[in-house]
Amino acid sequence: QDGPSTSSISQTVLFDILSETPDEQKVREWSQYYTAGPHLAGKNLSQAEWTKDRWVEFGIPQTEIVSYDIYVNYPRDHRLALLEKTKSGSDEAAEWGVKYEASLEEDVLDEDGTSGLKDRIPTFHGYSASGNVTGQYVFANYGTYSDFEELQNANVSLEGKIALIKYGGIFRGLTVKRGQELGMIGAVLYSDPGDDGAVTEENGEEAYPNGPAREPSSVQRGSVQFLSIAPGDPTTPGYPSKPGVPRLPANASTPSIPSIPISYQDALPLLKALNGHGPNATSFSERWQRGGLGYKGVEYNVGPSPAHLQLNLVNDQEYVITPMWNVIGIINGTLQDEVVILGNHRDAWVAGGAGDPNSGSAAMIEVVRSFGKALEAGWKPLRTIVLASWDGEEYGLLGSTEWVEEYLPWLNSSAVAYLNVDVGSSGPHFKAAAAPLLNQILVEVIESVQSPNQTVKGQTVADVWNKKIATMGSGSDFTAFQDFAGIPSIDIGFSAEPGSAIYHYHSNYDSFDWMDRLGDPGWHYHVTIAKVWALLAARIVEKPVVAFNAKDYAEALIGYLDGVKNQVSNSTALQLALSEEGFEAEPATLFPRLTAALDVLLTASESLDAKAAVLKEKLGHDIPWWKWWKKIKLYHAIRKVNTKYKLLERKFLYQEGLDGRPWYKHTVFAPGLWTGYSGATFPGLVESIEQGDTENLRKWEGILADVVKKAIGWLEK
Ligand code: GLU
Ligand code: CA
Ligand code: ZN
Ligand code: ZN
Repeated sequence: QDGPSTSSISQTVLFDILSETPDEQKVREWSQYYTAGPHLAGKNLSQAEWTKDRWVEFGIPQTEIVSYDIYVNYPRDHRLALLEKTKSGSDEAAEWGVKYEASLEEDVLDEDGTSGLKDRIPTFHGYSASGNVTGQYVFANYGTYSDFEELQNANVSLEGKIALIKYGGIFRGLTVKRGQELGMIGAVLYSDPGDDGAVTEENGEEAYPNGPAREPSSVQRGSVQFLSIAPGDPTTPGYPSKPGVPRLPANASTPSIPSIPISYQDALPLLKALNGHGPNATSFSERWQRGGLGYKGVEYNVGPSPAHLQLNLVNDQEYVITPMWNVIGIINGTLQDEVVILGNHRDAWVAGGAGDPNSGSAAMIEVVRSFGKALEAGWKPLRTIVLASWDGEEYGLLGSTEWVEEYLPWLNSSAVAYLNVDVGSSGPHFKAAAAPLLNQILVEVIESVQSPNQTVKGQTVADVWNKKIATMGSGSDFTAFQDFAGIPSIDIGFSAEPGSAIYHYHSNYDSFDWMDRLGDPGWHYHVTIAKVWALLAARIVEKPVVAFNAKDYAEALIGYLDGVKNQVSNSTALQLALSEEGFEAEPATLFPRLTAALDVLLTASESLDAKAAVLKEKLGHDIPWWKWWKKIKLYHAIRKVNTKYKLLERKFLYQEGLDGRPWYKHTVFAPGLWTGYSGATFPGLVESIEQGDTENLRKWEGILADVVKKAIGWLEK
């Protein structure tokens, strides 16, 4: 290659274009398009085509639709009824009456245009099992592992019962998984206003559409896939769902018991019927004291319901193998082997989806339009940019996972970073999760973007931010990039904060009308996330020396290990077991190999960052980069440092994967086995400690020490 065609605009001009192009009226228009009707996974081809057409129109001619054939369910029928025995006798002679028939419908509101569409999407769970079950039921709080454990400790019988579970603790599919493991026969999940903070009807706030509180009939749909075992098409773990591929049974990562989601309005009669039956929530831990329906007469007894009060749960799902469509656009950079990917999903559970995901989708059109303007002005990106509009995220990160599985070899050698926006805007609170390599660049970018909140004039997104960057967990499309392919990823968006209007997640009321009046009136947060996203991408694409910080990674790892050591200190059983085996049980000295390796990694990381700093110094600020390209020695030095940064995260992969979930290959980041959304760091160690398995703990220390040594070797090579 003899060098770049020169980008005729400077970085400063580029960044100006990207911060000035996104526009409130435009983003509102895109939102209106995306949220005008149903666009469930596998049923949104017209939106895929429209997205492609916009990208092409705005200057990305290399845009294509890439499809996969995916195993998935669509709802046929459902029922939930509280039955009361009206005449006793033997099973055949008994007679049952219906005490309450749940509506399983969200109310049609005049003020909310899409809530009354004829073809609106029923309330149901992705990947739930079909079934018709009848039985006594138990209130299981948030349905976390420890909530179920507390029920077991209180001798509440679970086997053969139906679980009534509040949303809000963990990824919903893992509540169903635990119930299933304990012999329960069905699960009913509802949204309790006790988790809405102060913005409740009990507190005098009016419910949507007249006010900011939760609409009582609102229902959270959602997937019940076992996310922490593996995302993606459950019948093709690890390889792409191309037509005709062999398929495995889905049951390793999907439930065998039926489940349905309901509103708190529909949950009320079921909760009240438990009054006086079984222990009261007050006899359990603090987490159980958050019920918000006390003022409606719910006492939060856990049950089981008496034998004469039973639930009948019917869930009828049609399972099919059907195409899903990703839209993939490419802007060729001068460097073909350094690639930055931006992604957002397009599919929604409801006709609207104004927050989830189409606030991100609308922002993405503005990102593309901004890129298009810059290209028109003469921008020639240094690195290659890939744009992705994913399908099937809601069922289990389907489109992104299958795509990563298909392009793994190329991504493995070329991907620099993946930048995800799911819900771009559902409130004013800036939220970020990132691989530590990306922490600094993220902060730099949000320090350069004005916040829509100008209570203090000139304040930036960073100024009004809580300065917390979460570790990568799961629950959106970054998962296959970060946890399967080892590509440093970031996930950003503005979300609701205490006091802001209740965000009706996965409900019909996550609508254009809600967004326009309550969620983001003025559309400033949509515009702001578009700017942050575009600028973040541009900085990662354009800085001649990749804008990563390796020291942050090494320090983060040391911090995670400290966390693990604390966990050991808190587990007397584990300490005892270790000392019985003749091992040093003093937590500070517990992981000698890994501790030593991390120390060396820190030094090696600092020296990579120092090399990078010298190169940056040589380049000076905003150097037109054809100047360095022609200086062969400098060019090679920069490329060498960049390759080290690019592949560093990959070194933390372990091909055999995590215990019992081989799809997850990253040894540092994974969704918590029993949380799903929130991440576990050093999952191998953490799970061994939880299980009191000292042998496995030592096995994982060995694996991790080897992985870290590999990373050191890579940095020092
Ligand atoms: N964002 C989706 C949810 O939280 C992801 C579903 C999944 O990861 O399976 O429901
Ligand atoms: Ca697959
Ligand atoms: Zn989403
Ligand atoms: Zn969602």
